[in-house]
Amino acid sequence: MVTKLKTNKRVIVIGAGVAGLSTAIRLQKEGYQVDLFEKESLPGGKMNQIEKDGFRFDVGPTIVMMPEIYREIFEIAGKDPEDYIPMKRIDPMYRSYFDKGQDYIDVSSDLTKLMKTLEDIDPEDAAGFLRYLSSVYDRFLIAKDYFLQRPFRDKKDFYNPFMLKQGLKLKTFDSATNSISKFVKNEKIRNMLTFQTLYIGVSPNNGPSLYTIIPMIELLYGIWYIEGGMHKMAEGMASVLEDLGGKIHYDSEVTEILIEDGKAKGIAVNGRQELADYVMCNADFPYAMKSLVKEKSAKGKYTDQKIDKMKYSCSCFVMYLGMDRQYDELEHLHTFIFSDDVDKNLEQVFSGEVIEDPSVYVVASSKVDPTAAPAGKENLYILVPVAELSTAKYDWEDEVTVQYYRKKALDAVSNLPGMANIENEIISESMMTPIDFKERFNAYNGATFGLQPTLTQSNHWRPQAKAEACENLYFTGSSTHPGAGVPIVLLSGKIAADELMLDDRG
Ligand SMILES: Cc1cc2nc3c(=O)[nH]c(=O)nc-3n(C[C@H](O)[C@H](O)[C@H](O)COP(=O)(O)OP(=O)(O)OC[C@H]3O[C@@H](n4cnc5c(N)ncnc54)[C@H](O)[C@@H]3O)c2cc1C
Repeated sequence: MVTKLKTNKRVIVIGAGVAGLSTAIRLQKEGYQVDLFEKESLPGGKMNQIEKDGFRFDVGPTIVMMPEIYREIFEIAGKDPEDYIPMKRIDPMYRSYFDKGQDYIDVSSDLTKLMKTLEDIDPEDAAGFLRYLSSVYDRFLIAKDYFLQRPFRDKKDFYNPFMLKQGLKLKTFDSATNSISKFVKNEKIRNMLTFQTLYIGVSPNNGPSLYTIIPMIELLYGIWYIEGGMHKMAEGMASVLEDLGGKIHYDSEVTEILIEDGKAKGIAVNGRQELADYVMCNADFPYAMKSLVKEKSAKGKYTDQKIDKMKYSCSCFVMYLGMDRQYDELEHLHTFIFSDDVDKNLEQVFSGEVIEDPSVYVVASSKVDPTAAPAGKENLYILVPVAELSTAKYDWEDEVTVQYYRKKALDAVSNLPGMANIENEIISESMMTPIDFKERFNAYNGATFGLQPTLTQSNHWRPQAKAEACENLYFTGSSTHPGAGVPIVLLSGKIAADELMLDDRG
């Protein structure tokens, strides 16, 4: 293993989210002295964990895609990922329920099994599905090679003949739904291949069609489970950072990024100043620009007015339920329950209207991981996509709202076979509303996936790692390029570390 030259330069990282840890490990490994300040008492940010009444839940992310990107951060540090995040592949990946639990499709990433499922539904759509895979795979390769793994520091990084040609090849101007509809007619299969844009908080009916690469990645590369739960990833990264000599200061809420003469000089935290050569901010970009960067000239184009006008991803209402029994009929780790009217449901999520018939996502990690619940019990994570706070026409401070969505979610789950009585079988209950995501992790507007990845808020148009109008200041995380989702913010951490080193070392 090559040991990197030590520099005396100190980097302060604000936030121990996945992106903050990813960038901190890379910089510490390259010889910088990293001090990371996190407002919470655990690492991971939205990749947090709840332990209660003998049950364990991941707070946010539950689906591992692109596991090689998870492993890479340990390999970079000279560690064996198996020691930190042993994974198993999950197949079938999930069950999708329709018609109030009357009908379902098991979705496998084993192409032989999946083709049989699709042929049984509609042979023409099975052929269309293969054409979709092939078309989107080409676009995935372009996105991967030219857009997802690089910064867009200057306009000319994007506005040049080569990149514009690649951009056109992405054919991303249509919506995901329209794009899939060209290949597949059956509505259930179509929903099955488009809802994944919600993983990054954008509607398949409006979001760029490029995001149909998400189901393609699931189908071609599978989905995985980290033994012990997703939070093992955060714990593992935190322990690697400390092993390398980095320091993590928990329960330390940064209140300001100190800026002098157009340069970041450090931070204010716990009533004192901490000075550094560079500041790397993993706190959500719009929140940080508005609340931590107080020097107006350092905001560049991201004025408070601009931040408020930008579009935000949807949010989530999540319940974490400890159940008094196991549910044999709930066969899978992941279950999706589709609304009877998916279009109306999506319309309501993104317009902020009250959601009448929500789609619901259920995770029962105790199905594959006995350490997640006491013997004979089940842990249920039940997620409802809801509007972010600036568009929601309902108030999460009002208990009526909470009880309304709690009941909607439980009703949807109790329609499933064997689950009619779940409300009476709850023995432990916690929840996260959009307000909790805002207050605990400073997610702007409670938008769980950050800035919405619309066409005009993606790539070159998304906030970049290097601050536009302030030297020595960098940003990483889901509201910056390349966007949201664990593997993507791991890449954001890499881009941000590279950008800092480019300025420091040339
Ligand atoms: C309910 C839910 C389900 C999801 N499901 C999936 C999934 O299945 N698969 C997937 O890949 N992705 C999923 N995601 C998305 C994924 O979790 C996020 O994109 C990713 O974790 C974001 O990481 P981040 O580092 O950008 O931000 P964050 O996790 O928000 O990290 C920011 C950190 O900064 C800290 N911070 C903020 N302000 C300050 C301050 N002033 N001082 C100090 N610290 C501060 C916060 O406490 C936090 O720790 C899900 C997200 C949610 C919420």
